[in-house]
Amino acid sequence: MRKAAFPGSFDPPTLGHINIIQRASLIFDELLVIVAENRSKKYLFSARERMDLAGALVKPWKNVSAALCTGLIVDFLKEREIPILVRGVRGIEDFSYEFELSMMNKTLNPGIETLIMPTDPAYFTLRSSSIKEAASFHGDISSMVPPLVAEALTAKFK
Ligand code: ADP
Repeated sequence: MRKAAFPGSFDPPTLGHINIIQRASLIFDELLVIVAENRSKKYLFSARERMDLAGALVKPWKNVSAALCTGLIVDFLKEREIPILVRGVRGIEDFSYEFELSMMNKTLNPGIETLIMPTDPAYFTLRSSSIKEAASFHGDISSMVPPLVAEALTAKFK
């Protein structure tokens, strides 16, 4: 049984995240999408809201589920015996960040491997922060996020 986790803020989930979930779901027997709650980060959506969105979005996949993590991701993975952490990258900037993060995680827990997946070209401009900004000005973000997320963004900025 090959288990992996895909952690992130998902504030909110975008079609870029969904693409990584879709592709990772074909590689692993079980994939856990981890909604991270980091005290030093400011979120638009609460942990509950991000978790509800992620939970609803992963429903179509039988082998994908979602969970909330308020502590260290590597500890969370160890508790659940998940040895692989999947992260997506859009370009070299993401890569240097993800590379450093993987070094940190490897130091914290050498038993956990990080797999870095390049985005599909169709999604490489998608970024939660720019989507939130566009939505705050009532821009049309419907091609960037699932309909459920578009509705949630519209409600936030009403
Ligand atoms: P974090 O705050 O942990 O970076 P995000 O929700 O922004 O969380 O992203 C979670 C993961 O998804 C990260 O590895 C990020 O690089 C990746 N990601 C975000 N957007 C895309 C995209 N459009 N294509 C591929 N990967 C993406």
